Amino acid sequence: MTATMKAVIVRAPNDFAVEDVSRPECPRGGLLLKVLACGLCGSDLRTLCHGHHRVTLPWTIGHEISGCVVETGFSGAGPWKPGDMLAVGPLVFCGRCDFCFDGRYELCDGYREIAQHWPGGFAEYIAIAPEAVERGVIQHIPAGLDPAIAAVAEPISSCIHAQEQGQIGLGDTVAVIGVGPIGSMHLELARLRGAWRTLAIDIDVSRLKLCEDYAPDEVIDAARTDAVAEVRRITQGRGADVVITANASPAAQVQAVEMARKGGRILLFGGLPQDQARPGIDTNLIHYNMLRVIGTTIFAPRHYAMALHLLAGGRIDGQRFVTHRFGLADFRQGVELAMQGKVRKAVFIP
Ligand SMILES: [Zn+2]
Ligand SMILES: [Zn+2]
Repeated sequence: MTATMKAVIVRAPNDFAVEDVSRPECPRGGLLLKVLACGLCGSDLRTLCHGHHRVTLPWTIGHEISGCVVETGFSGAGPWKPGDMLAVGPLVFCGRCDFCFDGRYELCDGYREIAQHWPGGFAEYIAIAPEAVERGVIQHIPAGLDPAIAAVAEPISSCIHAQEQGQIGLGDTVAVIGVGPIGSMHLELARLRGAWRTLAIDIDVSRLKLCEDYAPDEVIDAARTDAVAEVRRITQGRGADVVITANASPAAQVQAVEMARKGGRILLFGGLPQDQARPGIDTNLIHYNMLRVIGTTIFAPRHYAMALHLLAGGRIDGQRFVTHRFGLADFRQGVELAMQGKVRKAVFIP
């Protein structure tokens, strides 16, 4: 008789449940982990509602994972042994493309993801494929770091990568448009990198309220005021040194360009829906004001290692970021709360 486990199975958009399924075997050259925690991401909510072009249902999602090794598929000594506590990032780089050769893993032409190509972490156990052991983003959880906090190193890594691209530094005024979980993390990181002022901008009052935990210097309700005019007023007409868009709103990208100072940087962190990806930006502002519009996506292994160290050292406050913890049995409840915007980051502990 094969052993069973509990896992979230997504059968169709808006049709998902915790079910008894067979427990995965440890793959040769891979690992079998007992999942210690798995974070819920905004992209998971989209997949639960609408499906995902890289996921074939039925499927188990969940890509912000920490786990404990129960079995290894190595003959002889491998990089990890039973009992090791690991933080597992979802990206598995191809290792063969020009970008991987350049060490620019974030541009890899052929990367695959745990929870898309292989089943994800909303389950009691997860099999880690040999490719992920060889070319993935797996790290020991630093001593003393709560596995539920280690699990959220993944979204933080993307934010660290973006701010590195934007060269946010000492004395910058940083405006963040969209202050959900990711925008809030951008507020914290900008401060950590030496920002003088952080401006939190959103059209949703409950998100603005929730982000006050991050003590932004100014909170701008873009549904009621002209956010561009507000940023100009606060900066004595100058504009923000850096503007980060952390949402999927075309209007936010248009405004980002309009509220940046001359020579400023605009980080397009959030992608747009395919059919809205030509939002009508005034490119003369980019030209005459010598703006730098910077796209960023995913991250490289070093950003993941950095996120874990910053969390372990308390330089990033993981407890503040993770506002809710649920058992796997309460998956639906957690998802519903997250959908209502009442949660910054929910983590499930199977
Ligand atoms: Zn995520
Ligand atoms: Zn590659």
